[in-house]
Amino acid sequence: MASPRTSEAPLASSARLKEIMAAHFVGVDRASREHTAPVAWCTSVGPVELLRALGYQVFFPENHGALLGASRVANETMGSAHALGYSPDICSYLTSDIGSYLQKRTPLSRYGMSTAPRADLLLYNTNQCREVKDWFEFYGREWNVPVVGVTSFREIGEVQRSHVDAIVRQMEDLVPTLEAVAGRKLDAARLEESVARSKECSDLWREVLATAAARPAALTFFDGTIQMGPAVILRGTVEACDFYRLLLAELQERVKGGKGALPRERFRIYWDGMPVWGKLRDLATLFAGLDTSVVASTYCNSWVFEALDPRDPLPSMARASLELFIARSEEPKQRYLERMVRQFSVDGVIFHDSRTCPNNSNARFGMPQRLRRTLGLPVLTIDGDLNDLRCFSDEQARTNIEGFVEQLEGQAPRSPAAHA
Ligand code: SF4
Repeated sequence: MASPRTSEAPLASSARLKEIMAAHFVGVDRASREHTAPVAWCTSVGPVELLRALGYQVFFPENHGALLGASRVANETMGSAHALGYSPDICSYLTSDIGSYLQKRTPLSRYGMSTAPRADLLLYNTNQCREVKDWFEFYGREWNVPVVGVTSFREIGEVQRSHVDAIVRQMEDLVPTLEAVAGRKLDAARLEESVARSKECSDLWREVLATAAARPAALTFFDGTIQMGPAVILRGTVEACDFYRLLLAELQERVKGGKGALPRERFRIYWDGMPVWGKLRDLATLFAGLDTSVVASTYCNSWVFEALDPRDPLPSMARASLELFIARSEEPKQRYLERMVRQFSVDGVIFHDSRTCPNNSNARFGMPQRLRRTLGLPVLTIDGDLNDLRCFSDEQARTNIEGFVEQLEGQAPRSPAAHA
C-alpha cells in the first residue's frame, strides 16, 4: 500500500515493507499461474497457520479490498457486484473485490497481476462476520474449488472452554480437506513452527503499536494501517517477524529521542472502527494539521493474538480467534476500550460508523454514550464507510473533527497521571 503523504515523519523501514509486500504478491501469483504450490484464500483472522504448515501460498482478500479502497478503484468496481445482486448495503470489501474480479481491474497490476490470484481452496472463519463466507462461496462457485471454514461464535462474553473445544473440533474437521488439496499430510512440528511465528509476529506488532503510548506518539493510526500489512498477510512467516524487528527498532529510537510521528502533538485520539481507506491521506493530513495524533485503534490491534501458543497449537488458535474484539459482546468490548484509552493517554475517542460493516462499527448499541460516562472524555461518531465513498462526506467529517478538536481545547489539560 502507498504511504499517505502527510506531515507525518517518514519511516526508513517503509522501503523494506514495500519489498516484502511485493515479494508476497508476486510469489502467490506465480504459484497460482505455474502451480508450483497450492494456493489458498484465507480470511484475515482465519486459521492461516494450518495453511502455512501445509505449504500453501496464502492470499488475503480483505487486504485486496483495502487496496481497492485506498486506490479508490473500489468505487468503480463495486457496481458490477451490485448488478449481480450483492447489495450496496453489504460489506464494500466484498463488493469491491467481486467487482474487481468481474472487471479484471486491480491495483495489484503494479505487481504484474491482472486479477487477484485464483485459489485451489478458500478457508474462512466467521468470527468476524458472515460476509466472508458468502464472499468465498462466490469464488467457490466460479472456480469449482472447496470452500471450507469455521462457523464461529459471535457476541461472546467470557470465552469459555466449551467455545474453544467446539472451534478446535471444527478445525480438526478441516484438516482432511486441506491435506487433500495440498497433497501432503499435516506435520505437527510444522504447525507448531507456524504458530510460533504467528505469535512472534503478533508480539512484535503489539510492541510496535505500543510505541504510540509514548508522548509524543512515535506512530499514528494512519501509518499503522500501512505498517500492519505483514501482520495480516505474512503472519506465520519469518519475513513478517524480521520486518517488525526493524520497524520496532526504528520506532524505539524515535521514543528514545523524544521524537513523535507528528511535528507537534497537542491532543491524542483513539479511533474505533474501520479506516476510510479512500480518505486515509486526507484524514491523516487533517489530524496532523490540528496537531492531533490518532494514537491507537481497535482496528490495528485486531492482529494482536495474545492467546497463540506453539505448545498447544489448535486450542490456542481457537482461543485467539474467539478472544478477538470483533467477536465479543458489548461488555468485554467496553472493558477493552477503557483499557486502551488509559494505556494510550487518550483525550477523546472517535467512532467511525462504517455503513457497510456493522460488524466493526461499535457506535450502534450505546457504546459512545457509555464511554463518555465512564471515562469522562469527549466522544465523536462520524459516518462513513471502509470503501464506499458515497457514504462519506468530506465536509461533514472535517467540520465534525475540527469541532471535536476545539472541544478538546476547551477541556482541562489531562496529565499522564489522570490516565493511569
Ligand atoms: S468484518 Fe466488515 S469489513 Fe471485514 S469482511 Fe466482514 S463485513 Fe467486511
